[in-house]
Amino acid sequence: MTNSVFTLPAPYNEPVKNFAPGSPERTQLKAELERQMGETVEVPVVINGTAVHTGNVHNIVCPHDHGHVLGSFHKAGDDEINAAVEAAMAAKPAWEAMDWQERAAIFLKAADLIARKYTHKLNAATMLGQSKNAFQAEIDSTCELADFLRFNVKFMEEIYSVQPASDQGIWNRTEYRPLEGFVFALSPFNFTAIAGNLCTAPAMMGNTIVWKPASTAVLSGYFIMEIFREAGLPDGVINFIPGRGSRIGNILLGHRDLAGIHFTGSTGVFQNLWQKTGENIDNYKSYPRIVGETGGKDYIFVHPSANVDQVVTAAVRGAFEYQGQKCSACSRLYLPESLWPEVEDKLKAQIESIRMGPVTGFENFVNAVIDERAFDTIDGFISRAEQAEDAEVIIGGDRDKSRGYFIRPTVILAKDPGYETMAEEIFGPVLTLYVYADEALEETLDLLDNTSTYALTGAIFARDRGIVNTLMARLTHTAGNFYINDKPTGAVVGQQPFGGSRKSGTNDKAGSQLNLMRWTSPRTIKETFVPPEDYRYPFMGSDL
Ligand code: NAD
Repeated sequence: MTNSVFTLPAPYNEPVKNFAPGSPERTQLKAELERQMGETVEVPVVINGTAVHTGNVHNIVCPHDHGHVLGSFHKAGDDEINAAVEAAMAAKPAWEAMDWQERAAIFLKAADLIARKYTHKLNAATMLGQSKNAFQAEIDSTCELADFLRFNVKFMEEIYSVQPASDQGIWNRTEYRPLEGFVFALSPFNFTAIAGNLCTAPAMMGNTIVWKPASTAVLSGYFIMEIFREAGLPDGVINFIPGRGSRIGNILLGHRDLAGIHFTGSTGVFQNLWQKTGENIDNYKSYPRIVGETGGKDYIFVHPSANVDQVVTAAVRGAFEYQGQKCSACSRLYLPESLWPEVEDKLKAQIESIRMGPVTGFENFVNAVIDERAFDTIDGFISRAEQAEDAEVIIGGDRDKSRGYFIRPTVILAKDPGYETMAEEIFGPVLTLYVYADEALEETLDLLDNTSTYALTGAIFARDRGIVNTLMARLTHTAGNFYINDKPTGAVVGQQPFGGSRKSGTNDKAGSQLNLMRWTSPRTIKETFVPPEDYRYPFMGSDL
């Protein structure tokens, strides 16, 4: 019972720890890394709060040292997949009936557990399992995840408070019901925070979830599940089913009670999910909400008036942090001929100074790519560029998967602006650049607009304000997150709501009201206090 209009605490962005030498957080994180490297974790399927061991197990390894086993996870089979839906449906009535402030309290508590009690555990798991350095893990599995939870509950409150006008004698209300059915959340490997957001955003709005994590991010995903439980999340609200995507997808997408899909991952997989949903449209009770944030071919466009040092730093950080495995990673760079010689020298100098190695070596800026499949795909792009006539590998290119999946930051110079690495998502530490004639600004903007099917992030560098305005207008539909004199990565929840258009997704802006809106089906309620008791209107009266 809530005999009060409560307001939630104001959200804030979790401060980023810097892990500088001598800092307590560095010592604590290193100790936690040691601890996790010395144990093996057995990750179960979690249905209705109960651990299920299917016996069909898969190893969890360190990408930087694939011989090192961190644990194993049990894969869900058909029985577990169906049981997860049943558990979500059974948990639904009590969950949606719970006061929304109480639901909010669970997620606010989870945010504090993540940012305080379990920060080192989550950061270490993300470092070891997904090959992030300390800083990349911190901004992901601690800060962004806590930010998603704190800001989203505030957005939920804001949505619920939007109410219609009422005329005299009438009370109009909008009730923000959850969707009817369960929500299927599918998360990618590259952000622990995204995984946590995909399952909690719909849950906050009163929905229950079947969550399939990426097979290369199961360890951090399981730790998040344990935190939700400690925060008080009732059993069955989020059910955790690692396993084979296509197998899980085939069962869930055919289910009558599928109410929504909350996906982040590659464009191809998303298109496949959408197609299957279309094929099953007659089978569903409602029209499933489909939210998908997918691939990118993110750019930096440099104007001749730009500051070269700023451009080079943005390119290095934007392209190579987390080995280019960010959907927002800069992977194509358009440079004017007049700046190219200076950019080339400075780019080479910065990239040659980059250290690459295991996540346990804090001096390393670059670590390993996620797995052998990713390594081979990226290797294919670099190998083809080495042989190509219309492209040239000018920096880096070394790669070795013998112990870990290591690829040195690589720069390709494209002579053809439509060369494959200017157009396709590589998802690795590979930056392709195209040098344009200074006087060909207009044609180059057209090229940028038309070369790739994606429109996720993009950045422009220019000193001249008139040019900034021109570029911003000309490139309106090329990016859902647009940056002026900044790198195209590093969106912060509550500050730069994230998502792209075209083939980059439905652009429902993770970490914003727009996203939460997708998980509610409002009911409008009109109540008349003194209803009429005669059907006749006054105009029907006689003039005589
Ligand atoms: P992915 O598409 O391979 O996998 C995403 C999820 O879908 C995983 O859980 C996977 O197991 C599952 N899956 C794979 N095949 C499936 C199938 N046939 N049916 C059902 N589920 C299936 O993506 P990934 O490699 O984990 O992540 C990288 C991709 O994610 C990149 O393309 C990147 O751009 C994108 N991404 C986008 C954003 C964004 O906000 N736009 C953010 C992060 C990552």
